Amino acid sequence: MEKKPFEPPLIKKLNAGMPAKFGLTPRIGVISEIEGLRVKDLLDEYGSPLYVLSERTIRSTYKQAWQAFSTRYPKVQFAWSYKTNYLGAVCNVFHQEGAWAEVVSGYEYHKALKNGVPPQYILFNGPSKTYEDLKEATEKGSFIHLDHFDELYMLMEVAEETGKKPKAAIRVNMDTGIYPRWDRFGFNYDNGEAWEAINRIMLSGKIELAGLHAHIGTYILTADAYRVAAGKLADLAVNTERKYGHVIRYIDLGGGFASKNTLKGAYVPGTDSAPSFDDYAEAITAALVNSAIKPEHLPLLILETGRALIDDAGYLLGTVIANKRLADGRRAMIADVGVNLLFTSFWYDHQIYPAQPVSQHTEDTTIYGPLCMNIDVLRAAVDYPLLKKGDRFVIKRVGAYNMTQWMQFIEYRPNVVMIDPQGKAHIVRKKENLDYLTAPEEVPDHLKNPGF
Ligand SMILES: *Cc1c(COP(=O)(O)O)cnc(C)c1O
Repeated sequence: MEKKPFEPPLIKKLNAGMPAKFGLTPRIGVISEIEGLRVKDLLDEYGSPLYVLSERTIRSTYKQAWQAFSTRYPKVQFAWSYKTNYLGAVCNVFHQEGAWAEVVSGYEYHKALKNGVPPQYILFNGPSKTYEDLKEATEKGSFIHLDHFDELYMLMEVAEETGKKPKAAIRVNMDTGIYPRWDRFGFNYDNGEAWEAINRIMLSGKIELAGLHAHIGTYILTADAYRVAAGKLADLAVNTERKYGHVIRYIDLGGGFASKNTLKGAYVPGTDSAPSFDDYAEAITAALVNSAIKPEHLPLLILETGRALIDDAGYLLGTVIANKRLADGRRAMIADVGVNLLFTSFWYDHQIYPAQPVSQHTEDTTIYGPLCMNIDVLRAAVDYPLLKKGDRFVIKRVGAYNMTQWMQFIEYRPNVVMIDPQGKAHIVRKKENLDYLTAPEEVPDHLKNPGF
């Protein structure tokens, strides 16, 4: 038999809407308007790129979360996690809805005060509070969540110096079945450290142990982990009351609920895999009501939900700069939005929606941002239709962490607008400019002249 010439095998994906294991591959949708405002008009008016926030979505998401918990438990309080999005307008929407403030640094603490939050409604978390921070929070009567023994001893010194009794909680970490375990924050439950911290506080008499706190991680996809955490905090509350006759005022389960974004490498989209507020609420409140805590001493349940309350309300709008071919022939699309503005693209597969009708013919495409660095990739190897130079696009679900972790690198940070419930857009953070960025710089006299 004649030997046939060798041809290397080639696997090529068909993208004509072929069904996969999980059903039809979704056709890429088009988002041409947000809350009734056209994407094109928004970009023409406020420039590209542009962050857009929906006040209506923030409020309706908050109401859903509130309802899930308040229908299952008599005393519920949310505290807005500042680091998730600390634009003043965003924080104040949450505060108007009834949320307290949850802060993790002196900067965030002052931001909450500046936003007009009364100090007794601020929860001060974080592993790096200074002596001055502790003193100010003690004098103003905020709740201080202790992270480690050194901080506990520092707070005892503050109590002595000020003659005031700080209101504190201890942060507790524990095995909830979620790995890797977040054991760098707080006192460990399983090895007895949390109990020891409680004993030291109670025996000192200098600090009021107001609450118990746990923040078990972020993007937690199993509601059951919260059942374990709430159960362990309830045990500590019961033991504290049994030993000291002291009633714990609140149990704070932190944040960590998953938003509907899809993690890289996930099999199913986040819209299908993320538990609902009802799932989380059921797990947490069941653990509390079934605990040995006396009914008349049922603690206030605090939640510091961040991501799940704001992600859906944020959009990032941008424009295609160019298309080109990589050395191996694959298509590359260059956008004016990169990892500088979209930090979460490091772990989410963000959906990037064209803002105008596109061909259903798709091709393996890598979407790059505008930065002069190789890691500036929004999506690697995604089946994507051709968007031409100047075409607009919308990235959905970007409200959490991006407007705090964005970096000023190479490009200015853009305008942020919020669309109010009447459909009117307001700038809530102005695009940066050269004066703003160079204001803190100092150039020594002998370097004032560039020497040309
Ligand atoms: C970041 C943080 C939150 C919010 O977490 P999400 O995962 O965004 O819900 C809440 N509490 C503390 C202590 C945090 O550090």
